[in-house]
Amino acid sequence: MKFKFNYFPFTPRREQDRFLSDARTAINNGEILIAQAPTGLGKTSASLAPAVEYALHNRKKVFFATSKNSQHKMAIKTLRLIKEKFNLDLKVISLVGKQHLCPLITKKVRNFNAFCDVRRDSCKYHNNHKNQTNRAIKEIFDTPLQAEDVKQICMEYGACAHEVLTSIVKYADVVVCDYNHIFQPSIRELVLKGMELKDIILIVDEAHNLPQRARDLLSDRINANVIKGAIEEAKVLEYDRLEGTLTNILLFLRELVTDLDEDDEKYVDKEAFIQEIERITTQKLDDFIEMLHDVGIDVLNLGREFSYIERMAEFLNRWESSNGQFCRYIRDLELCCISLDPGILTQDVFSKVYSGILMSATLTPVHMYTELLGLPERTIEKEYRSPFPRENQFIVVTPDVTTRYVKRSDEMYQKYTDKIVGVVNVTRGNSAVFFPSYEFMNRVFEGLNGQVKKRILMEQPSMTKEEKEDLLNEINGDNSVLLLGVMGGSLSEGIDLSGNLLHSVIIVGIPLIPPNLEVKSLVDYYENKFNRGWDYGYYYPAMNKILQSAGRCIRSESDKAAIILMDERITWDKYRRCLPVGFYGLRLVDPSGSIDKFFEHHFG
Ligand code: SF4
Repeated sequence: MKFKFNYFPFTPRREQDRFLSDARTAINNGEILIAQAPTGLGKTSASLAPAVEYALHNRKKVFFATSKNSQHKMAIKTLRLIKEKFNLDLKVISLVGKQHLCPLITKKVRNFNAFCDVRRDSCKYHNNHKNQTNRAIKEIFDTPLQAEDVKQICMEYGACAHEVLTSIVKYADVVVCDYNHIFQPSIRELVLKGMELKDIILIVDEAHNLPQRARDLLSDRINANVIKGAIEEAKVLEYDRLEGTLTNILLFLRELVTDLDEDDEKYVDKEAFIQEIERITTQKLDDFIEMLHDVGIDVLNLGREFSYIERMAEFLNRWESSNGQFCRYIRDLELCCISLDPGILTQDVFSKVYSGILMSATLTPVHMYTELLGLPERTIEKEYRSPFPRENQFIVVTPDVTTRYVKRSDEMYQKYTDKIVGVVNVTRGNSAVFFPSYEFMNRVFEGLNGQVKKRILMEQPSMTKEEKEDLLNEINGDNSVLLLGVMGGSLSEGIDLSGNLLHSVIIVGIPLIPPNLEVKSLVDYYENKFNRGWDYGYYYPAMNKILQSAGRCIRSESDKAAIILMDERITWDKYRRCLPVGFYGLRLVDPSGSIDKFFEHHFG
């Protein structure tokens, strides 16, 4: 039975209205909408409102899945507004990873599930949750809350927030959750507890992240340090035989790489590897894994937060169960088991959910995501235009430079330096430059230092959340900063640079990954499956990183910024067609002159 309600809490703008209407139609028809929708369109409200409209009156639940906890905030804020504005009895929960809800830890624990498993029986929060859930539930459902608020409430009741939340999913109308909660089968089972996918409207936010995340969920890798850690644990526990076995496994790994130079890699055959492990351990792999699990628990019972032996068990289990399309290889004593096909996890989910919306500002080309994720026939592909005034952004390509390896030279680095200095020094406000690699960034940095009239801040590899926040604080309130980062790195995605903090963003080169074994395997696999090997496995992922970085500067209708794409290849057809509609009509200029006019016009 279909009902017509309107729970959209704003007056929709033109392009947003299109999205809203498409979302309503898809949900009413039980279809999957996959939408390339630019920043500023208001995707969160335009997807949640029609989903809530339908779910509340048709006995469905909405799952709003995100790749990062930080995306929960906007969804919860929107749901609160919908609930209040339309006076709805709308029950919402925000479900994050168990680790983030556990009051027993203050810092990240590497294998949290194992940590929780060995403590659960004696955990007072666990033992309390059944008695306290009913008391906590009223507060949790009273108004949509962020996960940290729920954690606080549950702590006050002395209950485990994760257990409280997973036990009340069945009463919720909307569950804001992580991708893992819906795409990782064992976690999904725990969360849904008997509910069926056919009763779910699934919204996937920032869906460009889903193919990689699904592959990551299926993939695993260990290195020599894990095995060395496992040997040390066996020694502490005085399991001499196991210590000897693990030492022999480490020797076997070393033998595997004896014919390789540094950074070289080679494929490892799944069955041959299992046979060798069984020869070394003199038992079936399953039995060895089970034994490692048991010993891993002994290690955790010593009070350690992490067990290398348990980690080895997890890896070997993944290796053994990795059926289908995987790339298994070794490099620098790191053994990798990498999934090539995200559809293994996603196809089943999308074929079973009642309806779905996948959305992102960088789903280009939309059809690639439809294919990679194995979306069903009832999928509707849509692309929307940016709601921001075109004159607020100035997008140009600088065609006489390139980061192609064959063209890299002192002269080319100098050319880049000169062009970056030219743009940065005429930018009235902060600038950012994103490079294809740390190596390239460091090389250009040498030349920039002393020439730009701005304070230079540089991204470091693997920055923590706190370090990123510190950096953001430094940019905030300053109007003369040059931020240097790497595409696909810590700063090009996932930090909030809203408030027109950047007035120019320069993209240096194209961040193509050198075609290593993993990339080659992806290309071969996608070529066989979709006849689009190089596009899907090589070019488009690199172009997506460009779009993510370029999207850092224009976050609202009033933001004004210049985006300069510095590489001749952007003008080549195979790269140009990877850009969304907003990038069509690119101008080719040497920007230092024309960009000045843009800033003169907008910033006086
Ligand atoms: S049961 Fe809950 S509170 Fe206890 S260790 Fe596990 S996650 Fe933490």
